Amino acid sequence: MQRFDPIESMARAHHEFGEHGGVNMSVEASTTFTVLKAETMPEIFHGQRGPEQGCYLYGRHFNPTVYVLGRQLAALEGTEAAYATASGMSAIAAAALQLVRHGDHVVVSDAIYGGTFALFHDYLPVRTGLSVSFVDMTDHAAVEAAITPKTRFVYVETFSNPTLKVADIPTLADIAHRHGAKLLVDNTFCPLVVSPAQLGADVVLHSLTKFVSGASDVIAGAVCASREFIMSLMDVTQGGLMLLGPTMDPFVAAKLSLRLPHLGLRMVEHGRRAKFFAEKLHARGEPVIYPGLASHPQHHVLERLANPGFGAGGVFALDLRTKARADRFMELLQNQDRFGLIAVSLGYFETLLSCSASSTSSELPVADQERAGISPGLVRVSIGYTGNVEQRWEQFAAALDGLGDAGDASP
Ligand code: PLP
Repeated sequence: MQRFDPIESMARAHHEFGEHGGVNMSVEASTTFTVLKAETMPEIFHGQRGPEQGCYLYGRHFNPTVYVLGRQLAALEGTEAAYATASGMSAIAAAALQLVRHGDHVVVSDAIYGGTFALFHDYLPVRTGLSVSFVDMTDHAAVEAAITPKTRFVYVETFSNPTLKVADIPTLADIAHRHGAKLLVDNTFCPLVVSPAQLGADVVLHSLTKFVSGASDVIAGAVCASREFIMSLMDVTQGGLMLLGPTMDPFVAAKLSLRLPHLGLRMVEHGRRAKFFAEKLHARGEPVIYPGLASHPQHHVLERLANPGFGAGGVFALDLRTKARADRFMELLQNQDRFGLIAVSLGYFETLLSCSASSTSSELPVADQERAGISPGLVRVSIGYTGNVEQRWEQFAAALDGLGDAGDASP
């Protein structure tokens, strides 16, 4: 069988021209849509007609511009359909809620983004009675052992945030499917690098806020899945997206649609630079975590799963042991060298530096941080592609040298 090629898949996807023959699609700025015949309206309400037949009802249901972005994202992941949402969290929350009933159980990776952790650890159990087992997704026997007859899905990030463990998606899909559960994969860290739906994932989730946007200018998300699942999310009485309403603004959709054609170029350059830094750090004996390094525990898994030519992602993590050392290091780089920015998020063209334990993983209690391998001094680096990479490395190395034993005593 021919291997899935996401670039080719996107190139072959439907191209929407602008209303006046513009090379880019027009932005549909309407929240409500007319029908020629009144009887068409109830047919759209009941799902008998929809965007596939050119029928639109109301912007929280489907908007033509957002719908086109959805088709492009489906092509990116090779799924039947996709729906673009107002944020990554809304995509994750709606997809999760769609699959569970009161009293159900799910198995969730113990190494995930702090907001997703809080959703599964704190919010959903209290609000819905969902029970959740947090498991190390690289321990496949533990994943299987955690599944019960009530388990509806297994949830994992392709590259865990911030520890960059690589999920063996085919194995996890096989385990989930053998027990009648689905596999949900958050592919935010590595669009194009890995295509989870081609490897057995049932639902692929994205925070488009990150690499897909690439400019840290919009908050956005996506659910990529079967047509049946996407339509279920839009059901007027049972649809998690239709009823919770995290709708993407059509102007945001138009913007993101213009970023997709160069996502591949950006991922390659992010990956090239991240690998360059990771190799230099490894050669210096620094505790660097990067899936593209042969020393990474799941490097061979990534080699088996990755689409050729896109590298191993634009994020690496460096364990500076203590928060004081991490803070000093980031301040040196930002304030002295103008190397990057102390800011959460990733996928920006500038380098973003954050200390995960005290920022995007601070929702995890300390014991859970320790279990996930997040030390108080773990610095997550989303490497940008501005400036000269050799000069950037010299700045980075000088900041490490300048650290000395700063703050070594404090945790
Ligand atoms: N998934 C991952 C892996 C993330 O890192 C984030 C945010 O940092 C999210 C989801 C949430 O995305 P958003 O901020 O777009 O809601």
